[in-house]
Amino acid sequence: MYATVMHGPGDVRYERVEDPSILKPTDAIIKLSATCICGSDLWPYRGLQPQNGPAHMGHEYCGTVVEVGADVRTIRPGQFVVGSFCLSDNTCPHCQFGFQSSCQQREFMSGAQAPYARVPLADGTLVATAEMPDADMIPHMLAVSDVLGTGWYAADAAGVREGGTVVVVGDGAVGLMGVLAASQMGAARIIAMSRHPDRQKLARDFGATEIVEERGEDGIARIMDMTNGIGAESVLECVGMEQSMQQAMGICRPGGTIGYVGVPHGVNLDGQKLFFNQQRMLGGPAPVRRFLPDLMDRVLQGRIQPGRVFDLVLPIEQVAEGYKAMDERRAIKTMLRVDA
Ligand SMILES: [Zn+2]
Repeated sequence: MYATVMHGPGDVRYERVEDPSILKPTDAIIKLSATCICGSDLWPYRGLQPQNGPAHMGHEYCGTVVEVGADVRTIRPGQFVVGSFCLSDNTCPHCQFGFQSSCQQREFMSGAQAPYARVPLADGTLVATAEMPDADMIPHMLAVSDVLGTGWYAADAAGVREGGTVVVVGDGAVGLMGVLAASQMGAARIIAMSRHPDRQKLARDFGATEIVEERGEDGIARIMDMTNGIGAESVLECVGMEQSMQQAMGICRPGGTIGYVGVPHGVNLDGQKLFFNQQRMLGGPAPVRRFLPDLMDRVLQGRIQPGRVFDLVLPIEQVAEGYKAMDERRAIKTMLRVDA
């Protein structure tokens, strides 16, 4: 088959590779319904993350199971499934505690920007629907796999509660999903920090009640002003840069919580500041598996449309253009159509 391979910074090709096959008895092979490009794929694309040789890209997926290994018990060929970018057994102590992204057998998904993909730990990783969803559900189901699951975790980790005040730092796809999550969790005030009109509009559609355009010290001052000098009880940090983390710490009230899901690049925290700020912090790779059944239900019931975050849809053959559009910020998130 053809699949997406990154050869180096800025060099993404759709080229011939070996077909995926069952390598372990706990594997499944799925036929993708659609796939997409993640903000985290841009780190190696921009040369900001070292890479050892060509990499098979893609970790967001949904589709139909075509084959399973001998030890797979609950997943069957023909089922429509969604899985997380973190592959997990869903049985070890960390999985049982709700942190499937720290599974003792954890692997990271790869090779999903392709018509077919191998999913290890299929029983623990994949969640099947009762029926084959309609075609118009596919973008929303695909979004659950990573971007919504991660935004949801940010809100969950930040302790968003009904009636609470929430600030979302970062207006990328994950930040926008954080807004949606906070809204679903019943927050009264959701302040989205964004400077881009198109993203501001989407944030409002997803439930943001206010928008703050300022950044850095000005952004902190603006939020403090809007909260009577108190700060927000829940802050979602969805970027992973030094400035965004400082912003999150600057606007979270004492006793409040920061949920941080942006993979840190160059973030250094000051011990004394952490001590005197008195803020809870929980972050890391999202345990999307914990939320999958609930989020898939919300999509199928028509309560949420997270797939609206895909503002560019391309046939997978044009994956290189998809990366370029996101790198140049012409697209928030690119969905890739797979018509194999
Ligand atoms: Zn586990």
